[in-house]
Amino acid sequence: MIRLIGLWVACLACGYGAVGERLVWDKGATLLGFLDKNKIDPKVYYDLAIQDKELGAEIRAGVSYYTLRDDQGVLLQALIPVSEAVQLRIFKQADRYHIDFIPIVFSSVQKTLSLRVQKSPYKDILRTTGDARLAQEFVDIYKKTVNFRRAVIKGDQLIVIYTRKHRLDRPFGFPSIQASMLETARRPHYVFAYEGKYYDAQGKEMMEFFLETPVRYSRVSSKFSHGRMHPILKEMRPHYGVDLAAKFGAAVHAATEGNVVFMGYKGGYGRTVEIKYGKELRLLYAHLSAFAPGLKVHSYVRRGQLIGRVGSTGLSTGPHLHFGVYKNDRPIDPLGRIRTAKNQLNGREKEHFERYIRPYQHAIKDMQSFEYAQQETLKITY
Ligand SMILES: [Zn+2]
Repeated sequence: MIRLIGLWVACLACGYGAVGERLVWDKGATLLGFLDKNKIDPKVYYDLAIQDKELGAEIRAGVSYYTLRDDQGVLLQALIPVSEAVQLRIFKQADRYHIDFIPIVFSSVQKTLSLRVQKSPYKDILRTTGDARLAQEFVDIYKKTVNFRRAVIKGDQLIVIYTRKHRLDRPFGFPSIQASMLETARRPHYVFAYEGKYYDAQGKEMMEFFLETPVRYSRVSSKFSHGRMHPILKEMRPHYGVDLAAKFGAAVHAATEGNVVFMGYKGGYGRTVEIKYGKELRLLYAHLSAFAPGLKVHSYVRRGQLIGRVGSTGLSTGPHLHFGVYKNDRPIDPLGRIRTAKNQLNGREKEHFERYIRPYQHAIKDMQSFEYAQQETLKITY
C-alpha cells in the first residue's frame, strides 16, 4: 500500500487522536485480503447479500481510498470507492465491524464551451479546457457520423454542454456530455445524451457499439441499477450489470471482440473473464463454472467466440451469468446495447425525449452567436 497523506485528526467518537490516511488500492488486492490484514472477521464479508458481494468485487486497482485508525492502529473506518458515485464503508461500532454502501460526496458543475475550430475539435477542446477526457469523449460521439479529417474545417463551430464532478476541489471521473453541436459545411450536427445513450435531434440513436447476447437465458433475474439512495431507509443497492438466469454449463459467448484482460477468481463475481474492446469498453462475464479451453490473458477473442460456461461460482444463488459492461470504467446497462434493440425513439418516448432536449437546444442556440465562450452554468453538491 502506498501512503499518500498521513494526518492527525480528532476522533470525536473515541476521544483519542485518530489517524486518517489516503491510500491507493493495490493491483490484485481483494476485500477479503483487506479484512484479513486488519484482523476483521471474514464473516462480515460472508454475511453480505449476494449483490453486496458483487459490489465488493468492483473495487479497482489504483483507486484512492481512506482509512481512519485509532492510536493503536486499529481500523475504525475505511471508505473504498466501488464506482464514481458509491463507496464501500467498513466501520467499527460497539466492538463489531459492519460493511455497507454509501454515496460519495461530490459537487457537480455544469459547463458550456463554444469555440470555432482552429486545429481540430480534439486539440481545440484540450487547449481551451485542459480536459483530455472531454476532448476524447467529444470525438468518440461524432466519429461514426463525421469525418474529422475532411469534413471539419477551420472556422467550424462546436458547442458542448457537459458536467464535471469534483471531489475535494479536484475533478474526478469522466465528464458527462449532455448536449453538443458540431458544424460541418455550415450544417449543424446535434447529439444529446438521454437515459445513458446518445441520440441525434430526431431521436435516432448514435450507435457507438453494439453487443451480441452472450448466453441463451431463460430470464433476467436481476436488472442493472445505479442504486439510488433511499431518503429514509438510506439504503442503496447498485447492480452494475445484468444477471441472466441460464442452465448450468450453458455456453457463454463473447458479446463483442476484444482482448482478455482478466481471467480468474474475482471475489463475489467468482470465476470471471474480462475482455477489453478498444480503449474504453470493458466487458465482464462472472460466476462461470469453467473457462473455454485455451483461453488466456491477452488472448484475442472474436465476437461470438466461446469463452466459458455458466455456473454459480462466487456464492451466487442459482446458475446465472452476471454480465457487466463498462465504458471508461463507468458501468452501463448492457441490455440496452444488444444489437436487436431498436435504435429509434418513437411515440411517447420520442415526445418525452423532445421535451427533455428542448432546454439544451435553446442553450446551444444562445451560444451560437459567441465566437468563443466558456461558462459554468450550475453547481450542485450531492
Ligand atoms: Zn449480478
